[in-house]
Amino acid sequence: MTRDEWRWFVRQDGTEHCDADDRCKAVCGEIAQALGRCGYRTDILPYPGECGVQFRSVAQAAGMGRTGTNAFLLHPVWGPWIQLRLLATDVVSRETLVCSSPACTRCGGCVTACPAGAILKDSFDGLLCHSYRGGKGEYTPFGPERELKYCTICADVCPIGRQPKSSTDPFKDNR
Ligand code: SF4
Ligand code: SF4
Repeated sequence: MTRDEWRWFVRQDGTEHCDADDRCKAVCGEIAQALGRCGYRTDILPYPGECGVQFRSVAQAAGMGRTGTNAFLLHPVWGPWIQLRLLATDVVSRETLVCSSPACTRCGGCVTACPAGAILKDSFDGLLCHSYRGGKGEYTPFGPERELKYCTICADVCPIGRQPKSSTDPFKDNR
């Protein structure tokens, strides 16, 4: 996994994409096809803003990790560096879901590092985060590649999981 896979771009039709999400959707598509061949119905849900379902809550209930102070779902191995997608299906599972242990150590690194003051020890202010990022022009495509240079400070400082490798930091100019 490299950091470049987490760079988001805006296509000419206005849709956003990054390699990590493209791959995630491709895997969902393969699973959907396999289930379809067995007669099950499936639907790959759009992002929470469109479908109203918070992906990290579902992922947490499925035992993939626990939400940390920085509001990311923290996977025990990959920390915040995971891409989530939901595949709805009418398959009935006989497995009992096992909840993951909390990975967040409450070290406070993200609380101190957030330039917007959006992360508190016991809560996360999504509006503060959003308005800080909007003020930095993060929602406006940048340069010929139409990149969105999203803030990743609260993921960068988090000691949980493996940081993606990168020789250059595409986000540094936006801090
Ligand atoms: S994305 Fe940036 S502004 Fe938003 S909570 Fe994380 S560090 Fe703060
Ligand atoms: S930086 Fe520390 S407090 Fe914040 S989410 Fe990661 S482990 Fe938890």
